[in-house]
Amino acid sequence: MFTLIKLPYEINALEPVISARTLEFHHGKHLQGYVDNLNKLIVGTEFENMSLEGIIAASSPLIAASSRNLTPIFNNAGQILNHNLYFTQFCQPSSRSLSGVEGPLAKQIEKQWTTLDAFKKEFEAKGATLFGSGWVWLQADAKGELSIAQYAGADNPVAHGLKPILTFDVWEHAYYLDCQNRRPAHLAALWDIVDWKVIEDRFIR
Ligand code: MN
Repeated sequence: MFTLIKLPYEINALEPVISARTLEFHHGKHLQGYVDNLNKLIVGTEFENMSLEGIIAASSPLIAASSRNLTPIFNNAGQILNHNLYFTQFCQPSSRSLSGVEGPLAKQIEKQWTTLDAFKKEFEAKGATLFGSGWVWLQADAKGELSIAQYAGADNPVAHGLKPILTFDVWEHAYYLDCQNRRPAHLAALWDIVDWKVIEDRFIR
């Protein structure tokens, strides 16, 4: 059984970037829905006692060879993992470390993009140009090489054998109450609440 993660901040902590109302729906309704769906789908199956990562690998259309339709299981498990990573990577704007990204991740970004701003611009552009619903990701391979990827629907780096580092949700439910159709403005504002300590830990662990 999977349960809804607790937000590591107050419901209004991310304002004005993400409003309490958006979080109430996004965390309390959308993510809760994915949790409820997956719990129903895996009862009595081989997925029942697996981790989210295990379920994603075993139901991924890329990896799993199955004659059964595992798409609903993949989609709901993917959406739970994606949202868990998404919600836990933010912090209150005022509590954020003002130094930005540090350590091995800072070095790798500098090596590949020269500046953090250049990295952010490419990340925002990939998020803005992703057609329809999906997620833009910073992901790492086994050698620590980084890349920015657009994945549609519930797809994610885990389904491709890569490590998820940072993600922005570009499904309309993530920004429509606050920014309506202005997806690029929402993506640009998200940098104000990224907790770089969390992102650095994901890269080195
Ligand atoms: Mn979402």
